[in-house]
Amino acid sequence: MSDPFQSYAHSVTERFLRYVVIDTQSDPTSPTCPSTLKQKNLGRLLAAELQALGLADAHMDEHGYVYATIPATTDKAVPVICFCSHMDTSPDCSGADVKPQIVRNYRGGDIVLPGDPSQVIRPSEHPALAGQIGQDIVTSDGTTLLGADNKAGIAEIMDAAQFLLSNPAIKHGTIKILFTPDEEIGRGVDRVDLKKLGADFGYTMDGETAGNIEDETFSADGATIIINGVSAHPGFAKGKMEHAIKIASAIVDRLPKDTCSPETTEAREGFLHPVGVSGTLEQARLDFIVRDFSEQGLRQKEALLEDIVKDVMRDYPRSSYEMQVKAQYRNMKEVIDLHPEIVTYAEDAIRRAGLAPVRTSIRGGTDGSRLSFMGLPCPNIFAGEHAFHSRREWVSVGDMEKAVQTIVHLAMIWEERS
Ligand SMILES: [Zn+2]
Repeated sequence: MSDPFQSYAHSVTERFLRYVVIDTQSDPTSPTCPSTLKQKNLGRLLAAELQALGLADAHMDEHGYVYATIPATTDKAVPVICFCSHMDTSPDCSGADVKPQIVRNYRGGDIVLPGDPSQVIRPSEHPALAGQIGQDIVTSDGTTLLGADNKAGIAEIMDAAQFLLSNPAIKHGTIKILFTPDEEIGRGVDRVDLKKLGADFGYTMDGETAGNIEDETFSADGATIIINGVSAHPGFAKGKMEHAIKIASAIVDRLPKDTCSPETTEAREGFLHPVGVSGTLEQARLDFIVRDFSEQGLRQKEALLEDIVKDVMRDYPRSSYEMQVKAQYRNMKEVIDLHPEIVTYAEDAIRRAGLAPVRTSIRGGTDGSRLSFMGLPCPNIFAGEHAFHSRREWVSVGDMEKAVQTIVHLAMIWEERS
């Protein structure tokens, strides 16, 4: 097969540089949607650019979601595929006044960021840099994050749209584009209108290393323990007082230390992680997040937590506890495995773009994990972002172009095999 990109001038990098200077940081303390109005500045620009590309239905809705349709170029009945990225950046790191820098023809070694020379991107801490010799690498100036998470994905989808629209001889089915606000604060799909979107399958373009495709996320629960102690005047408390704060502390102290915690696990291991503690003598509260790739793993960790609580409570016979577990999100693999072609087609598209596909899992959730359970099976494809949520965030031009090509090949493969 000839390379459809041979004479195509990619627009992904100029788009990326245009999008990252727009501050779109989301805010978990805001009750509105989008959580910050400034996200709409990017949404408006994207809707206008999609209109200018000729996508007549492109628009941003009142909640800040951007929708558009690339019409089919084939008579075949092809499933409708959606490509999705999020517009917001993480509240963990400033996203105002981003000044992108391009290191041309990277020669290896440390990249010192000019706006704050204490911020250094070192190959020892970023092993993926080793594969980028000769590439152009985009960073921030070191005073803010870059926003490759997830504006790299947005720029890639936009460039792929431009490519498909300027090459109408390429056969593909109907393609939907979706840009969401507030993914970084876990609310990215709260107001999405899947009926209006009308897609059968989706792909988020929000992964890390070039070639990666992720079809698994954590399954996630939250657990709360309320401890009711026994209060007494401290001057007359001997043999009477049972201190709720001390009971809570004893529980935290007995959590496994060498396993089962974020700081001692990796790959496919889950964890039990305290995220909040508050209390008085009479009552204390502990909040946990529980993470694992399987339902059974979640249950085991929750049982372990309750065993620890019961064991501690034996020393406090007149006190009591309540434990409550709430589901947060579930491993999308359960849904995606019902449609294995979603992932195998993506692997073939990655291969056609000249990369070796790597199937992997995410130690977290994505918009896709919730979309999958809402009826839109949605694995996550690499966007090329690295060291996200930090001032040392970077992305390479070559990886972004490979992601654009992966999107286009994927659209073609769905048509070929329908
Ligand atoms: Zn992201």
